[in-house]
Amino acid sequence: MLGTLAAAGAAVAGWAVAPKFFGSSKREAKMQSAAQTKTSPRALQAVFPPGPEHWVGDGFYVKTVFWPQLDAQMLSPFLLLDHAARKRFDASHYRRGVGEHPHRGFETVTFAYEGEIEHRDSAGGGGRIGPGDVQWMTAASGIVHEEKHAQAFSERGGDFEMVQLWVNLPASKKMSEPRYQPLLDREFPRLQLGAAEARLVAGRLAGETGPAKTHTPITTFDLRFHEDGTSEVELPAGWTTLVFPLEGDVTAGPALEPIASRHFGVFDRNDDGVVQLHASKGARVLVLAGQPLDEPVVAYGPFVMNTREEIGQAFRDYQSGRMGHLL
Ligand code: MN
Repeated sequence: MLGTLAAAGAAVAGWAVAPKFFGSSKREAKMQSAAQTKTSPRALQAVFPPGPEHWVGDGFYVKTVFWPQLDAQMLSPFLLLDHAARKRFDASHYRRGVGEHPHRGFETVTFAYEGEIEHRDSAGGGGRIGPGDVQWMTAASGIVHEEKHAQAFSERGGDFEMVQLWVNLPASKKMSEPRYQPLLDREFPRLQLGAAEARLVAGRLAGETGPAKTHTPITTFDLRFHEDGTSEVELPAGWTTLVFPLEGDVTAGPALEPIASRHFGVFDRNDDGVVQLHASKGARVLVLAGQPLDEPVVAYGPFVMNTREEIGQAFRDYQSGRMGHLL
């Protein structure tokens, strides 16, 4: 989140992960399954355990679920996902969070599930988001911002849960104007998809369109299972499709592979089957789908560009004040 220099990349780059990849035997299971259902479930390519838990600043105790160095092409256009699981903070006059820091070349998307966060940036964007709200901030050519617990939330204390997602920008948009989109819970269309209700944040799903403006084709939503069962979603073939259970375990794919809570599953990009998720009542799942960018990714600290030279330029531009300052 919040992209302190160490948080994004450097600290996790050396983290050893043991993903589970699924082989061709699943094809047979898929064919059998396809004969029994009218649509064939999309194959799961791999399931990854999450990275290390760590503090970002003093406000966000996160598990880094994925990060660019894990496999940038597999994840594209997504870069990083930090999950601050539900945690209680005592009442305090001091506001926890992350102080002034820069970003360039991508977008930070903050999903507030519990608690309240206040943002402020050098492009004049900022505001407070609370439970159910999403802030979609496009750093693009560069911003400096701070991310803090809201004053009122700090003073009263309480449970806090949030997610921060980093979405890459194509080379042609990396130096475009910054943008700030505060999106309120009530703006998200609700869709009944089998055993779960979806809240559509961005893109198209089952005839609805989410309110977030994106620079490349992306569909982002979360699911809340109101009963034990299956939720089925049609998403474009050829896109990256990632599934992250925030709470509760999920099974997916023709062979019902488990994706444990806070692990993440990657679906097979070459499979045009329907994405089927099975979970128990109360499970909450974040689903990220997007067209891959197919460009080189060079991620270092708070900057994500296409070449090392551009990273060097980003540091120089930040240090010389060209990304602005908080007032
Ligand atoms: Mn940040």
